[in-house]
Amino acid sequence: MKSLGLVFLFLAMNFLETHAYAQTTAAAEAQEFMNKAEAQLADLNVKVQRASWVQENFITDDTQAMAADAIDQVTAVTTALVEQAKRFDVLALPPELTRKFMLLKLSLTAPAPKDAALRREMTEIGVSLDGDYGKGKYCRKNGECLDITAIEKVMSSSRDPEELKEVWIGWQAIGPPMRQRYSRFVDLSNQGAREMGFKDTGALWRSNYDMTPEEFSADLERLWNQVKPLYISLHTFVRWKLAEKYGPNVVPPDGPIPAHLLGNPWAQQWGNIYDLLGVQEDKGGDSVNVTELLKKKNLDPKGMVKYGEGFFTSMGFAPLPSTFWERSLFTKPADREVVCHASAWDVDNFDDLRVKMCIQVRGTDFVTIHHELGHNFYQRAYKDQPFMFKNGANDGFHEAIGDAIALAITPEYLHQVGLLENVPEASNDIPELLKQALDRVAFLPFGLMIDQWRWKVFSGEIAAADYNKAWWELRLKYQGVAPPVERSEADFDPGAKYHVAANVPYTRYFLAHILEFQFYRALCRESGYKGPLNRCTFYGSKEAGAKFNKMLAMGQSKPWPDALEVLTGERQTDAGALLEYFAPLKQWLDEQNKGKKVGW
Ligand SMILES: [Zn+2]
Repeated sequence: MKSLGLVFLFLAMNFLETHAYAQTTAAAEAQEFMNKAEAQLADLNVKVQRASWVQENFITDDTQAMAADAIDQVTAVTTALVEQAKRFDVLALPPELTRKFMLLKLSLTAPAPKDAALRREMTEIGVSLDGDYGKGKYCRKNGECLDITAIEKVMSSSRDPEELKEVWIGWQAIGPPMRQRYSRFVDLSNQGAREMGFKDTGALWRSNYDMTPEEFSADLERLWNQVKPLYISLHTFVRWKLAEKYGPNVVPPDGPIPAHLLGNPWAQQWGNIYDLLGVQEDKGGDSVNVTELLKKKNLDPKGMVKYGEGFFTSMGFAPLPSTFWERSLFTKPADREVVCHASAWDVDNFDDLRVKMCIQVRGTDFVTIHHELGHNFYQRAYKDQPFMFKNGANDGFHEAIGDAIALAITPEYLHQVGLLENVPEASNDIPELLKQALDRVAFLPFGLMIDQWRWKVFSGEIAAADYNKAWWELRLKYQGVAPPVERSEADFDPGAKYHVAANVPYTRYFLAHILEFQFYRALCRESGYKGPLNRCTFYGSKEAGAKFNKMLAMGQSKPWPDALEVLTGERQTDAGALLEYFAPLKQWLDEQNKGKKVGW
């Protein structure tokens, strides 16, 4: 869209024209409208990327204001385009064009009212909530103040339940000041969604999956029921071991697990408490402690990223451009504030790929590097698509690509690239699978419940007066966890989670945790691998790479089941691959759990 003047030309159409002629003319005009909209949005998008890149790499009041201006402009333009495009709704357009108009409508995560003052108010609230979270700190009695990185560190390593409780409560205290603004944000965003023709913002989010919002909700329920028995087995085992460690007064052996004891401020991934579970490891072969392997090799952060790139190039993907190495941020600068939360960027919508990460030489960062590079290789694979299709097939796909690769970081792979000398015996598979499950399976109900809460907040089913009560009801229902102390509506615990404060949809992570196994299994099959799924790697398989690329290159040009089918031959998201991967662990857990109370 270069000029709004054009829009009014459509209104001057001669109503006496024959219907067919009018239809053809209007379709041509719709095409013209979309071409201009794409050009304008692509241009604005680059401006947002640049402003945000600078803001996140040099956090100051000025860079923050500049980023907010750029975002406000895209929101304003998109809102106007959606409004202007309404008159094409009645036309029968070619499928590709219809899809672009649909994606245009769905492109705003925070739809805003048309009224400029209200839109500005909403954007400012959004930025202030994000800022509140970013600046969030808990100051202890001795004057020591902990930011979220420090909080996470304590919660991952402390084994003193009183200290864990203190720090947990301290972090949740960033929530209450957000409450009023959050509620106002919900109202304003809902108004914007309604003006676009959606029931509310949650319905808009659920419309992003090539099916009706109701069908999507039902599909999530199906997936949750598929993985729930595995989660319950894990929950039962972990609760029993924690009850042994902390005693029945701290951990009721038949109730929910207290949320402060799981190694993470949100109890969303439990890998940090692996050492409390008392699992014997067979010492045959080398230890697969990736942190130690990286240190033994004297790898620096850039060297770790090279390994990540090497996995993709071994499958036939072209190496990353030289600008990637020049412009990315790999380590935390000593002299300025940056957003360390890892992210992948495609600044010019073509080749200007970057990651921004404060890499430490440790195993979890090695996995995160593969995750972020998955975004980058996806972005480059679909760079020749029109602007509206430059996206993941759905948002779960984008999150799952790099994690499918990360699953292939097996001992066999580490051996192949010279990081590990001797591959351990298969008898060590259970401890390895348990470590994986503590992060990837424990996450599932959390990944689901965030938006179960938020969709009900947007729809009004959860009233502002019940925000916190409803939050804990859902955490109990899905995760089987409970707060360590009584909570009330004077608290606002959802605000202590980044994606709520920053208004980032969350169901994508639930989907990704299922899709990554589905992609992984398909890539294993394509590479000709036969054997237990958890030992598969497809490093070096050009066949797997070619098939992967075929799906990635589609971007969002087709409904996501079409993309899924290209790689997997399946048209439904399916947790079957995840269950196959963890089958040996499930059997082992159920043997251990015999006689123990299951559920909460
Ligand atoms: Zn990601």
